[in-house]
Amino acid sequence: MILRGDVNSLIRRVNFRAVFLTIAREQPVSRIDLAKLCRLSKSTITACTDQLVKSGLVRNCDIGEISVGKGRPKQYLEIDTEAGVLASIHKDQSGDIGVMVTNLNGKILERFKEVQGVQGRKMSVSDYVETLIRIICRIRDTYQNMKHGLLGIGIDQSCVMDPKTGVIEYNSSDPGWKGFSLKQALERARLGVPIYLMRPAIAASLGEMVFGTLEQTDDCVFIVGSWGLGVAYFPGEGSDMDPMPVSASFAHSIIQENGRLCTCGNRGCLEAYASVRSLYNLTFPDKEYMPERFEQLVRESERAGSLVQEQVDDMWRYFSVGVLNIVNIFHPKTIVIGGREERFLKPRHLALIEQYVQQHALEHYRKDLKIEISSLKEDGPAFGGIAIAQRGVIDAMLDSRSEKSRVLVF
Ligand SMILES: [Zn+2]
Repeated sequence: MILRGDVNSLIRRVNFRAVFLTIAREQPVSRIDLAKLCRLSKSTITACTDQLVKSGLVRNCDIGEISVGKGRPKQYLEIDTEAGVLASIHKDQSGDIGVMVTNLNGKILERFKEVQGVQGRKMSVSDYVETLIRIICRIRDTYQNMKHGLLGIGIDQSCVMDPKTGVIEYNSSDPGWKGFSLKQALERARLGVPIYLMRPAIAASLGEMVFGTLEQTDDCVFIVGSWGLGVAYFPGEGSDMDPMPVSASFAHSIIQENGRLCTCGNRGCLEAYASVRSLYNLTFPDKEYMPERFEQLVRESERAGSLVQEQVDDMWRYFSVGVLNIVNIFHPKTIVIGGREERFLKPRHLALIEQYVQQHALEHYRKDLKIEISSLKEDGPAFGGIAIAQRGVIDAMLDSRSEKSRVLVF
């Protein structure tokens, strides 16, 4: 690994994040337990917690226990849930925008949906930016009386963006978005809140890691099956001091030469066989996405002997090929499947995927492999937006000179 920048400040940031996340997970927690859980020295814990308390993100609390020998209440730490809020934004295929607002601890305070006026009409990128700005201002104003107000916002983006410039390079649902810099447009609005733009697979993996049930110590791969397919690889502990998932463009790997036409213009891509879009197009060819039609598909897939049920079985068969290829490329110890496609996933499909991988992967790569379903299900990307904003809170605390209206792309 090549370390760029100041190593000490990186170690400091990693320590602060670990302490903050451990308090969030274990609270109320004593400083002594915190030192053990984080595997840090008592003096490092004292320095970290003192600054977290001073900045108002963490507070002291007593739970009525008396310290042996000291005769006074034992001090515990907890996240200050009154400190401020985090938010995440997610645009679904119909153009409706889902918003989640949580406290610093990830507890949902409110959820709302900004419904597009005309269903099925494509949203232009400038309409989208305008809607985002309106939503962010609304949250900022609603929570302005809290100590820190709105502390950060994660927006999950299915389009491919250049991480440096934020310029959209590919948007499968609307080619007209190509060439637009979402990052620049949001920075120009100077909203005074850090914004994090991220791919759904990265969001879902972070969400699962921070708010889900997955205990990640080894390499993991997250597959988010939704309208399209996304894959994120999360290196296990020990591979890097500050691991972040990386997204892999896997949806357009070809599994069938001269096969079905894909949105990217090629034929036979995995996404054209194993995504919700591929399933939807079989029943509603050339029809715009509508949530009612999606629900109709879910209902039909439950009906024994229906054509949709057969098509769903086929979809998971193709999906198995994708999972096998991922096992062979990344050699992960765990594969987590999440996203809307999970609505169609029955235990028999999971068994089918496992069986296919066991039959075809090299023994070394499959012997300890676990394949799981995301505990956050469809909400993975929304919680991922919250997780990245929570991570940014610590960075902002440690670097008070950082630009408040910054927009980062992951
Ligand atoms: Zn393709």
